[in-house]
Amino acid sequence: MTVPLRRLVRIRAGGLAALAAAFLFVVTEVAWAAVTDNMYPTYNASRPCRDDPDGGDGILSCQTDNREVYYYMDSGGTYELESPDRTIVSDMLRDDYAPTDLARHYDSSPTFSGDAETDIIYQEGSTNIGSSSDGVTWCNDAVDARRCDQQYIRIRGNGYYTPGLSCHETGHAVGLTHGQQADPKLNQTDSRLGCLQTPVSYGTGLGANNRENINGAY
Ligand SMILES: [Zn+2]
Repeated sequence: MTVPLRRLVRIRAGGLAALAAAFLFVVTEVAWAAVTDNMYPTYNASRPCRDDPDGGDGILSCQTDNREVYYYMDSGGTYELESPDRTIVSDMLRDDYAPTDLARHYDSSPTFSGDAETDIIYQEGSTNIGSSSDGVTWCNDAVDARRCDQQYIRIRGNGYYTPGLSCHETGHAVGLTHGQQADPKLNQTDSRLGCLQTPVSYGTGLGANNRENINGAY
């Protein structure tokens, strides 16, 4: 007698869970105000996240591994960011990413191995950047098909470290895509893409669509 009783209880619990899920789905739909889904993976960008070569290969593919984002800016050596560049990145994170659900932490003693690496490493340099690009973001340590433990951002020197471009590459490092990888697709220069426009102008900010997509994912 006890077996069918348990089964009945399970079905009831399952039914409630389904009802709750349906309710949450409706609430999510109402709250969703984004113009397009440009958070990887999308219908138009679904290649699995994986480790890229140094300098990346231009295929954008990963979210960061959680909402606590630790970052580091190279402060010496080949890829050092000069003081004005560091200020631009800090101000950009404060102005554009503070209003998102991502928590940002500067990591003055970065970790480059293990399973809790510093999430974003900002570099200034041009090694392996294609001639048509001003900056690139790549995954150094994929956790699974969707998330990366450590991403590198490399932007050319001599004036390329702008608020707009650093916002753009940081967007890639947390999973945001260009308009042509979004669903529905948008023109690469659609202003609703905020700093994920390609190309991006000097002071373009994150914008509401990207904020919605970040907050939906983290
Ligand atoms: Zn890009």
